[in-house]
Amino acid sequence: MAEELGRGDKPHTGEFFMFPVRCFTCGAVIAHKYEDYKQLIDSGKPPKEALDEIGVNRYCCRRMFLTYKSVLKEFAQYHGAVG
Ligand SMILES: [Zn+2]
Repeated sequence: MAEELGRGDKPHTGEFFMFPVRCFTCGAVIAHKYEDYKQLIDSGKPPKEALDEIGVNRYCCRRMFLTYKSVLKEFAQYHGAVG
């Protein structure tokens, strides 16, 4: 599955740049799964099925994916405004 998704063709910057490396609650490393998750979502899969497929089972970890929103673009407009 991971091979079909064309891993490694994106730089590690951009929209998933600020995704947390670990789950805040249980400490499981989750950052490496975000790219797969994003691609499944983009291909039209419901979040539940996408999370099942990438093997994120605990609900503390699942909320990390479900509630993630990149604010990088919003922050960028204030670049240089403070300090
Ligand atoms: Zn967790």
